[in-house]
Amino acid sequence: MIIDGKQAAVDLRKALAIEVAQLKKDKNITPGLTVVLVGEDPASQIYVRNKVKQTREVGMISSEIKLPIDTTQAQLLEQLEQLNNDNSVHGILVQLPLPKHIDESVIIAAIAPHKDVDGFHALNSGRLLNGEKGALVPCTPQGCIILAKKHLGEDLSGLHAVVIGRSNIVGKPVALLLLQEHCTVTITHSRTKNLAEICRQADILIAAVGRPNFVKASWVKKGATVIDVGINRIEDENGKAKLVGDVDFTAVEKICGAITPVPGGVGPMTIACLLKNTVEAARANA
Ligand code: NDP
Repeated sequence: MIIDGKQAAVDLRKALAIEVAQLKKDKNITPGLTVVLVGEDPASQIYVRNKVKQTREVGMISSEIKLPIDTTQAQLLEQLEQLNNDNSVHGILVQLPLPKHIDESVIIAAIAPHKDVDGFHALNSGRLLNGEKGALVPCTPQGCIILAKKHLGEDLSGLHAVVIGRSNIVGKPVALLLLQEHCTVTITHSRTKNLAEICRQADILIAAVGRPNFVKASWVKKGATVIDVGINRIEDENGKAKLVGDVDFTAVEKICGAITPVPGGVGPMTIACLLKNTVEAARANA
């Protein structure tokens, strides 16, 4: 089974559009998402454009604040202060990476936690760690769980999940979400010994490494659910740029029970989950 992330994202957006309409009708609230972009990184610009389009499609208010590359940290903090105090803004997202002269951790800490729809603020990651309700949970990890359930159904309890990668953006939060789902979780990283052997034990294998075709077919248990988070730009045999994941898709597809493709797997779910977080933030503060 190839897990269709594009379709799953369409389904989630449809459900969100209904919720947005209901929020308008019942509470006279239109969820609003503001994306702040500093500089002109081409990949970030494409990503932000997609976010704006999809936010509007589900009936939410989308705003975009573009700041020049030489914006100082103090100016960005001032901008965030304004957005924190603006009642029409329910979600704030500062597009990463930021220019080198700005400290990302300072910026993330300055976003009001109840508007932190990326889920990177320490209060939200702490709530996720404690298993508290009301946390805004990072988007890509949420997408991974939704996609795994497309193959495995709602109940993941007792399954062995192996996560490759321990970043704050993907590896750690996805491991915590799997733990909440009552999986037995193993987190692996660049210092892990016997990685292939550990991966072979996985019922659910999540690859968030950032290395093209890193996970080989011999690392995958027959029938496992493989979620490929990686986005790697490589050249094909004709020298044309193409995107591949962290998993050797062609070989692994023959062994696993289900796999997410790249592109068209986890990627589309990330923005859909961002919209979901914004709707949740608007509802929580209604
Ligand atoms: P990071 O670079 O922050 O983390 C990569 C992780 O992989 C680290 O924990 C690192 O270990 C681990 N790693 C590196 N080499 C090895 C190795 N040889 N064996 C085992 N583990 C290794 O990346 P991110 O978590 O931010 O992203 C991971 C991938 O997911 C990237 O390709 C990124 O583009 C993609 N991504 C996709 C998204 C989407 O929407 N689909 C969203 C976010 C990311 P260590 O900690 O020891 O260094």
